[in-house]
Amino acid sequence: MKHTKVKDLLNSTTTLQEVNAKGWVRTFRNNQFIALNDGSTINNIQCVVDFENTPEETLKRITTGASVSVFGTLVESKGAGQKYEIQVTKLEILGDSDAEKFPMQPKKHSLEFLRENAHLRVRTNAFGAIMRVRSVLSYAVHSYFQQKGFVYVNTPIITGADAEGAGEMFQVTSLPLDNLPKNEEGNIDFKKDFFGKHTNLTVSGQLEGETFAMALGQIYTFGPTFRAENSNTSRHLAEFWMIEPEVAFNDLDDNMDLAEDFIQYVIKYALDNCKDDLAFLEGRLLEEEKSKPQAERSEMALLEKLNFVLENNFKRVSYTEAIDILRDSTPNKKKKFQYLINEWGADLQSEHERFLVEKHFKCPVILYDYPANIKAFYMRLNDNTEPGRETVRAMDILFPGIGEIVGGSEREERYDVLVEKMEKLGIDKEELYWYLDTRRFGSATHAGFGLGFERLVLFVTGMTNIRDVIPFPRTPGSAEF
Ligand code: ATP
Ligand code: MG
Ligand code: MG
Ligand code: MG
Repeated sequence: MKHTKVKDLLNSTTTLQEVNAKGWVRTFRNNQFIALNDGSTINNIQCVVDFENTPEETLKRITTGASVSVFGTLVESKGAGQKYEIQVTKLEILGDSDAEKFPMQPKKHSLEFLRENAHLRVRTNAFGAIMRVRSVLSYAVHSYFQQKGFVYVNTPIITGADAEGAGEMFQVTSLPLDNLPKNEEGNIDFKKDFFGKHTNLTVSGQLEGETFAMALGQIYTFGPTFRAENSNTSRHLAEFWMIEPEVAFNDLDDNMDLAEDFIQYVIKYALDNCKDDLAFLEGRLLEEEKSKPQAERSEMALLEKLNFVLENNFKRVSYTEAIDILRDSTPNKKKKFQYLINEWGADLQSEHERFLVEKHFKCPVILYDYPANIKAFYMRLNDNTEPGRETVRAMDILFPGIGEIVGGSEREERYDVLVEKMEKLGIDKEELYWYLDTRRFGSATHAGFGLGFERLVLFVTGMTNIRDVIPFPRTPGSAEF
């Protein structure tokens, strides 16, 4: 007899004589009631054990975390909260779990404790829910682009390109560590460390993605990205997943439209397909909120917040307008805040971004037309900007509670302008000859963006630390798995 998933048993339209369920024991009450979960849903199925006819030895082995196989009848449940339960006729212990030692006993664990047990935390209700939502969102990403005829491209993980020029790369070496090539000063020569060539783990698939967009029209990447972030923020990981569409003949406005439509689609998809998990996560958050002072509680519950994003257009604001708003605002008495935004041309700090989104506009914001010299070399220079106040056709999408979720731009399609910019910044033209070829042969306006998948999962699940929405977080000091 094949076993049936708990989700399907709970969604059954009829009682059934003979069923088999397999899963892990969440709790075992009164020597009689097993709450059984198999990961297919946040909900457990109650299994009622005939304790009078079950050997004492077996009852003792029904402990939290143990895997069991139960056979019995699916009957209507008299208890509140669930339609069906299983009246157990036969029970097999598949794998014991030492109750004394099993770290995931059902109680409130701190998120820090759970992070240290990333391989076991997925057995808790919250992490089961988060990981299912993450999986559904991944599917939604592909579904969106595939329906629109985008081609999925796998850009290289090991690459010589540093798209962002931010110097946050993990070096890759093919050589034994004690035999790395040295330069004349005796320092490691990273230029020759991968079979004689310099390489690193990718920080973005954009540059390679552009070469494919200039042949296939619309492409997207969705893969792991690496940044040697030596910071310990709740928004940065050293290994994260990025979604990067790139579209030929799109300009900055098209790019904003695409990003907004895409984000709304995937959020709607999660709302439609993760109802139970999102309801659970919302309940969890509401509990958490209760322990906060009134002033710090969020104005909207999770589902309301997600629906709000679907129902409202993102506010589009130029960098220059944003600076004016910030300059005129006095969000608190901190001098720092005032100082940083006093000058046109300064990069916005996350506190500024959050102020704009959470206090001023109170909705997702797309900031565009940034000063050229705080953005990457490949962004399209705006025509007709004041000398000394050159801007590029860049955009960042800022989300409440998250800050930057998307960074994107229209790309500089003019060969001469791009080369001039690279020369000014000291970027090696020979190394990027393949990138320049896109401008040499049939160049055209094109645009794209990068969306950090974990920041999206953070928003949708209502979690606040990025380490809690990726199966195995990689941050400074945590990579033991
Ligand atoms: P931030 O300002 O938050 O450091 P960034 O501007 O350096 O981000 P981009 O190079 O624009 O990031 O990358 C595109 C997107 O990738 C970002 O908008 C963000 O969603 C995501 N992202 C960037 N760095 C990280 C990271 N270390 N961990 C998780 N997501 C990230
Ligand atoms: Mg960064
Ligand atoms: Mg940024
Ligand atoms: Mg960015």
